[in-house]
Amino acid sequence: MKCRCSECDGEIAVPKDAVNGEIVTCPDCGLEFELVIDKDGKCSLKVAEVVGEDWGE
Ligand SMILES: [Zn+2]
Repeated sequence: MKCRCSECDGEIAVPKDAVNGEIVTCPDCGLEFELVIDKDGKCSLKVAEVVGEDWGE
């Protein structure tokens, strides 16, 4: 199935067996999204929180 990037409106291919919360990356703009599949089986994308390695002690 395919989802649409909310940032650049590009198509993101999502594997058929993808699950809720899976991280997908937009091939066009490189943004990472968390996959949200609703009960109708439609997918939408939520911008993933990027957790940096630098926590700034
Ligand atoms: Zn994009």
